[in-house]
Amino acid sequence: MNQSPAFFTAFSRGLRGRCPHCGEGRMFRSYLKVEAACPACGVDLTRYPADDGPAYFTILIVGHLVIVPILFIPWVWQGPTLVTVPVTLGFLAFVTLGLLPIVKGAFIGHMAYLRLTSDQAERHTADQA
Ligand SMILES: [Zn+2]
Repeated sequence: MNQSPAFFTAFSRGLRGRCPHCGEGRMFRSYLKVEAACPACGVDLTRYPADDGPAYFTILIVGHLVIVPILFIPWVWQGPTLVTVPVTLGFLAFVTLGLLPIVKGAFIGHMAYLRLTSDQAERHTADQA
């Protein structure tokens, strides 16, 4: 498949955990493991090397949109430490782990739109040497 999907199409399909090319097949075979090939259209989904990108964006999102607002809740500062710390950290872990596959799907969808494949990454690395 040589044609890349439109940005919004690929991004939204990735957000939903679907193949960025057809939107039908699942992108993940488990929590964060990408399917070797789309079950619907057969496109190789492993050629999009997301690497650490989804983790960085998840940290960025959670750090700015969740942690900062939490710090404005008086209970976090005034409540008993033995309660607030485990509750807050548990909530942050829940939000982070819930957001990670969504961000990874969107990241891979964006890579599909940009046609950033592992072949190009290897070629770029070889050019640098
Ligand atoms: Zn597909």
